[in-house]
Formats: sequence, C-alpha cells, structure tokens
Amino acid sequence: MKKFDVLTIFTEQFELLKSSVIGKALKEKVFEVAVHDIRDYSLNKHKKCDDAPFGGGAGMVMTPQPIHDAILAVDSEHACRRIYMSPRGRVLDHETVKRLAEEERILILCGNYEGIDQRVIDLDIDEEISIGDYVLTGGELPALVLINAVSRYIPGVLGSMESLNEESFTDGLLEYPHYTRPQSFEGLSVPEVLVNGNHKEINKFRAERMIEITRKNRKDLYRKYLRKLKINEKKEIK
Ligand code: SAH
Repeated sequence: MKKFDVLTIFTEQFELLKSSVIGKALKEKVFEVAVHDIRDYSLNKHKKCDDAPFGGGAGMVMTPQPIHDAILAVDSEHACRRIYMSPRGRVLDHETVKRLAEEERILILCGNYEGIDQRVIDLDIDEEISIGDYVLTGGELPALVLINAVSRYIPGVLGSMESLNEESFTDGLLEYPHYTRPQSFEGLSVPEVLVNGNHKEINKFRAERMIEITRKNRKDLYRKYLRKLKINEKKEIK
C-alpha cells in the first residue's frame, strides 16, 4: 500500500483530492493521503510559522522549528521519500513520476511566502521537485499535481492499467487524437480509417499522428525520438 503524507499550512486546499478517480480510490483505500497542519507543531504561543529573512529582502520565510518537528513526528524512522515542492527543484517529468511510483511512502512538504528556512532542506529533505518554470504562491497545488501523477501508477486507481501504456510520453511521443460518437459533428467527420475496423491500419494511422504532433508541438521530444530510432537501427544492423 502506498501512502502520501503532506505537510502544509493550508490543509483545506487538499479538499480537491475528494473528486474524480483519485477521490474514488482514496475512498476505497487503494492508497492513502494524510494531510498534516504544520501549525499544529509550532511551539510559538500564537502558532506563528513565519518570520523575516536574515539578510533582509522582501517577504517572510517559514521558520524551521514547526516544519522540522512535523517531519520528525510524521516520519520518525525516515521511511518516507521526503520531497520539498520548490521552483528550485528538478522539473517533474514522466520518468520521475514512474520512479516515485515505486516508493512505498512519500512525504511532501509545501512551502509558502518566500519559501522555507534552508536548514530544513539540508537536515530533512531528500529531493526538491518543481512542477515547471514559473512561481506559484504555495507548494499545495504542486503537491496535488505530484500526488495525481504518481497515483495513476498505483494499481487500482485507474480503471485499466492499459491506458497508461498508450499515453503521451510513454514512448517519448505525444498521444494520437481521440474521437468518439457522433461520427459526424459540426461538419467534421471521424477519420475513415478509425471506423473501418482494420487494426493494422488504425495502429499505423495513430503512430503517424503521434510523430506529427510531437514534431509540431515538441521539437525537443521529437529530436530525442529520432536519436533513439537511429541507435535502434544501428543495433539491428549489428
Ligand atoms: N522565493 C522562492 C519562491 C517561493 S514560492 C523562489 O524564488 O524560488 C512559495 C512556495 O511555493 C515555495 O516554497 C514552493 O513550495 C512553492 N512553489 C512555487 N512555485 C513552485 C513550482 N514551480 N514548483 C513547485 N513548488 C513551487
């Protein structure tokens, strides 16, 4: 069983976990998310969790004591992979999601304001992860993104594990376009090949679309794909 422990000062943001397939999986206890309020661990009499930065500068910094104590209380044995959501981290991608899906327990720390005291990162955190090159006000949405992406790899969360193998990024390409009923919509018809039932043709059509869409939208992935093809060709010649 897989468990996420989230440390945050805005626990209400995790209400979002109640909806969709994730909500259903949590209800059925396919996996677990425990949300912990960092404020509960503050020894300050007003439960204060932030202070002005040493060295000056704008904004407030989250103080180390409540976070450090929360981490030690939730994960005393360091059984969790401890992650701090941070724009300074490595950017989350498909490979990282798959790697994290192998972990039994993941602890996610959400920062706010200007961020958290560096000493908590040095003492307690295994890895910093960013969800993209932009800055958000807090780590809560990034944590939800991480939980959502990783939990799709937990058996029982998605209706069928098969859909995982047919998605964007699985083989380095973006996904082919989807169509459903009606066959004609606002004058646009579903490509003929998809309705004629010839699976070889359908696979060929989809593979071509994947390459085309990747080349158009993501030159970086497309170049990687071409390199992989060349390496495989060389292997075959040998
Ligand atoms: N001063 C920091 C930004 C702080 S934003 C800097 O310039 O790097 C406040 C909090 O939001 C951070 O502590 C982090 O937990 C979260 N956060 C903001 N943007 C993020 C991103 N792109 N990915 C992951 N977490 C992010």
